Amino acid sequence: MTAIRIDGNVLAAKVRERIAIDVAALKAKGITPGLAVVLVGDDPASQVYVRNKVAACAKAGMHSVMRRLPAETTQAELLAVVDELNHDTVVHGILVQFPVPKHISERAVIAAITPEKDVDGLHPESAGALMIGEPGFVSCTPLGCMEMLKDIGMTDLRGKHAVVIGRSNLVGKPMAMLLLHANATVTICHSGTKDLAAQCRQADVLVAAVGKPRFITADMVKPGAVVIDVGINRLPESEGGKLVGDVDFASVSEVAGYLTPVPGGVGPMTITMLLQNTLVAANLAAE
Ligand code: NAP
Repeated sequence: MTAIRIDGNVLAAKVRERIAIDVAALKAKGITPGLAVVLVGDDPASQVYVRNKVAACAKAGMHSVMRRLPAETTQAELLAVVDELNHDTVVHGILVQFPVPKHISERAVIAAITPEKDVDGLHPESAGALMIGEPGFVSCTPLGCMEMLKDIGMTDLRGKHAVVIGRSNLVGKPMAMLLLHANATVTICHSGTKDLAAQCRQADVLVAAVGKPRFITADMVKPGAVVIDVGINRLPESEGGKLVGDVDFASVSEVAGYLTPVPGGVGPMTITMLLQNTLVAANLAAE
């Protein structure tokens, strides 16, 4: 079997077109959706992520506010910036790029963002709402993965077994919740899971969010399964220095039914869902 590739760039472009239309409609009512991105320090990878997010906002017709703060910024200073953005009416979504320098508590920063502007879906109120099935913002990467499943016609996962590898608050846990809400039977695996390969082989939908290059190999995949690769790992220069996912694309594409590539898979969908969440936040503010 050769897996069908789920192209994140193509799907992202389609969804962004729809978002741009909705943005234009909101602008006609005098409201421009606005995203504030806060970057503390000068981590090169974070700078690239932040630049991409700001550029995506502009392309969708949204307003963006970029706040660059030096690495020595104190936690109190960062929380003051978040508070200012919480009260800024042209800002509908706030994203603080992580990681922040070690002397700042990520938990404190997440808790400081008002849930109405929590477009990253990390606030305990947002996470709790997802858990109990109430409206609230959901982390962009798992939302993007669900859009990919929808795009291949997998909206209701009743009778399907989904296996998520990874239990982070950013990806693994919200992913598992979304799959559960879509009626899948869900298994969450992590570093303490016994016989991971056997767990994975049960999956009709396998989501890898581990952070280990080419960790999922063909022998771990049920023939015909849908495999979503969330991982973004840079190989050492000695191995070519390129970006690869958590899935060994070459071998798994011989077994899986559908597979997302890295790059060009979940990554573009994540930014797209950030735009969508910001649009939703602006609509809610308009109401
Ligand atoms: P994370 O916080 O480091 O979580 C990794 C998870 O993998 C943990 O739950 C860990 O288990 C589990 N794990 C580690 N080794 C394992 C093993 N040998 N067997 C089974 N499970 C194992 O990472 P994350 O933030 O969720 O991100 C995961 C990956 O996705 C990274 O490569 C990241 O760069 C990427 N990512 C991509 C996007 C995107 O837009 N495409 C967005 C976010 C993240 P324990 O909990 O037991 O330690």
